Amino acid sequence: MTTFSDLGLIEPLLRALTAEGYAVPTPIQARAIPTLLTGRDMLGIAQTGTGKTAAFALPLLQRMAANPVKVQPRCPRALVLAPTRELAVQIADGFKSYGRHLGFKHTVVFGGVGQGQQVSAMNAGVDILVATPGRLLDLMEQRHINLQNVEFLVLDEADRMLDMGFIRDVKVIVSKVKAQRQTLLFSATMPEAVMSLAKGILKEYDRVEVTPPATTVERIEQRVMFVARDDKKKLLNVLLADKTVSRVLIFTRTKHAANRVAEHLAKSGIPADAIHGNKSQNARQRTLQLFKAGKTRVLVATDIAARGIDVDGISHVINYELPAEPESYVHRIGRTARAGSSGIAIAFCDADEVGDLRAIERATRQSIPVDTSFGFHAAHIAARMQGNPSQGPRPQGQKPQGKRGGGGNRGRRSGGGGGRGGKPWDNRSQAA
Ligand code: AMP
Repeated sequence: MTTFSDLGLIEPLLRALTAEGYAVPTPIQARAIPTLLTGRDMLGIAQTGTGKTAAFALPLLQRMAANPVKVQPRCPRALVLAPTRELAVQIADGFKSYGRHLGFKHTVVFGGVGQGQQVSAMNAGVDILVATPGRLLDLMEQRHINLQNVEFLVLDEADRMLDMGFIRDVKVIVSKVKAQRQTLLFSATMPEAVMSLAKGILKEYDRVEVTPPATTVERIEQRVMFVARDDKKKLLNVLLADKTVSRVLIFTRTKHAANRVAEHLAKSGIPADAIHGNKSQNARQRTLQLFKAGKTRVLVATDIAARGIDVDGISHVINYELPAEPESYVHRIGRTARAGSSGIAIAFCDADEVGDLRAIERATRQSIPVDTSFGFHAAHIAARMQGNPSQGPRPQGQKPQGKRGGGGNRGRRSGGGGGRGGKPWDNRSQAA
């Protein structure tokens, strides 16, 4: 297994990483750090949550430490551009933690607040500046910031910067940085506009891509409902009686089950359609169009049929039947919370699916909170999941807090594992 010292990082950084509790590099760190230490440019395709901040901050800090330069007022050596204040602050925090033994000065500038403190920090001089484009340009125009000494330039979440209309600002900013520099561009997606920006600003570069890993996105609120198989239809009706459950994708294991659920819903007066491999391409397209247009509120799908479904605004994913493969669960629930919105994923778990649920929780390294508030809660199945078949029923409507009973190692996700449980790479390093 690769360690941080295998990647060639210096001792003060290794010490900081130990203090942070980072034991193993994430995939993007393992791939990016060695090549960035050589000074090459990089195009990184990775989402937040993959550990990309450390992937660029660590080598930058190390290269700066290898060539110490006295700080100059208003003239940073490293510039990181980020689309939002939140991300900028997060990145600055990363530099602060990882560089704690190196003594560099850094600051963060963003709009929406007074500029006084930011100007003072720049006047005092910083090595590393993290900034959102608009405010940075403002301060440059007022001559509070000068980019002539920038040797390291990072564009983080380039796709989002473009979406937010920062392209012109970014280009102006980059044009003020000397050509003799190391440039890194990170983006979760690589549309044409980002690619052309990358080509314009990177020299010979390495491309590092970490594909969206088999993990669950934090924006997705997950719940599991333990329910007897015969009660699943009734539970579904109760759930769908709630109008905030506005655009729903329901998963079944088989085509027959998909048809049965769709028919049941139609009979209950809930507009629903099924999509699966037995339908012609045309019929599938039509079904999808109706769902996209909001004409059908509920779409019932099998895993294979759902592969091509890319519909924004799915409020809920319901796993009417759990998949045998944890990967499928991750793909299924990833249909909600797209394009930055949030979503809710509900899993029905009957007596025969406890093993599937266990596999999902193991693979995603999290414990899915139990929701009993919609009724039909099967306490005996919940007890079996807890590894305690003799346990009595839990009162209806109670959402368990803290550890589940029994084993004691099924702590809930929030706050568990030092905040790193369920992170994208956990899965991989576990599997490796
Ligand atoms: P990022 O993708 O940079 O936003 O990082 C996501 C989260 O993972 C942050 O909370 C980091 O502190 C954490 N993190 C980054 N690298 C590691 C690692 N190698 N081991 C454990 N946690 C990490």
